[in-house]
Amino acid sequence: MSHLIRIADSEVSFPCESDQSILDAALKAGVQIPYSCKKGVCGNCAAHIEQGKFQRIRIWPDAQLTGQELLCQCRPQTDLVIKPTQWHQSIPTETKKLQVKVYRNVAAAPDVSLLHLRLPAGQRIKFRAGQYLNIVLPGEQRRSYSMANPPHESDAIQLHVRHVEGGVFSEMARHLNPGDVLDVELPFGHVQLSQDDQSHLLCVCGGTGFAPVKSLLDELAKQKSQRQITLLWGAKDAAGLYLLDHIARWRKSLPRFKFQAVVETESDALTLGAFHGRVDGALLALGSESTDLEVYCCGSPNMVSAVKKVGLNALGLQADKFHSDVFVTSQTAGAHHLS
Ligand SMILES: Cc1cc2nc3c(=O)[nH]c(=O)nc-3n(C[C@H](O)[C@H](O)[C@H](O)COP(=O)(O)OP(=O)(O)OC[C@H]3O[C@@H](n4cnc5c(N)ncnc54)[C@H](O)[C@@H]3O)c2cc1C
Repeated sequence: MSHLIRIADSEVSFPCESDQSILDAALKAGVQIPYSCKKGVCGNCAAHIEQGKFQRIRIWPDAQLTGQELLCQCRPQTDLVIKPTQWHQSIPTETKKLQVKVYRNVAAAPDVSLLHLRLPAGQRIKFRAGQYLNIVLPGEQRRSYSMANPPHESDAIQLHVRHVEGGVFSEMARHLNPGDVLDVELPFGHVQLSQDDQSHLLCVCGGTGFAPVKSLLDELAKQKSQRQITLLWGAKDAAGLYLLDHIARWRKSLPRFKFQAVVETESDALTLGAFHGRVDGALLALGSESTDLEVYCCGSPNMVSAVKKVGLNALGLQADKFHSDVFVTSQTAGAHHLS
């Protein structure tokens, strides 16, 4: 049965089936609401549901605190009026299924493969920095990976895959050779960084959470952005921080760029001149001269939640300017895919 979902204080409405998430119905109708994981973890699609009845698929722990619901986890039981934190209307994103070829597979760190993939001749992909693709495995299983190349490099894809012991795809990724073919579908994800915001941009990431940040900073470098940008990137040890020569190039192309490496191994921290500890600790130590910062945070659910706590509670940063991409695993909940 179909219900009508209306956006509060607007003329915009869209249909949603009773077995469909409100987020999926909104995206299908071209109503862009920020999202990353679609699994009830990242919190990007939070909204107030002002009128009507709905069913929750999974309870969001922050719901009581904020009075909001996650639209990826709610299905309508009646017509609804919703008030998302951010939204805008656009042409629905076109997702594609493609076969891509591995043309390079480099061990960037002891537990990270940098996969360089080529699109079929003449094909290009359209995506925004911060978006991800799904690798479709035999048996229709799916794994999500963020594009690490910027949108203007649209004839190839770069992925940073961390090896997870016993992990179906990440184990496979170590052994991929040039010429091997992968089935992918893309693009997904919609982290809405403001186009005209010129406030200080703080990127905080852990491990391969660096991939979407790289895409974003490569894009800003191409645009010769004058924004103040700080990158905090954390790993267990120095070997976990890779592409440092690429980061050094941003120091030249982004005039107000600063990088703070963060490692948990004390001896490596001393050698690198890095912060010793984790990125949430580094953020607290860095402090903030102003609360008007835009934050983009990517990595494991625990890391993103620790950074969010420090950012919002200790530093008083604004919740609507805190954007995150959370690398939830396939076990957390069923991955979504193209039908
Ligand atoms: C939007 C999005 C973007 C992502 N982008 C990236 C990316 O750019 N780079 C990247 O490396 N990953 C990324 N991930 C995570 C990725 O999708 C996979 O979950 C991860 O690579 C593990 O897949 P697998 O097939 O190797 O392991 P699976 O076969 O899914 O899991 C095997 C076992 O390992 C456990 N496991 C899985 N992941 C972890 C983990 N991280 N830590 C500890 N145990 C784990 C599982 O619970 C399971 O028991 C992203 C996830 C999402 C949702």
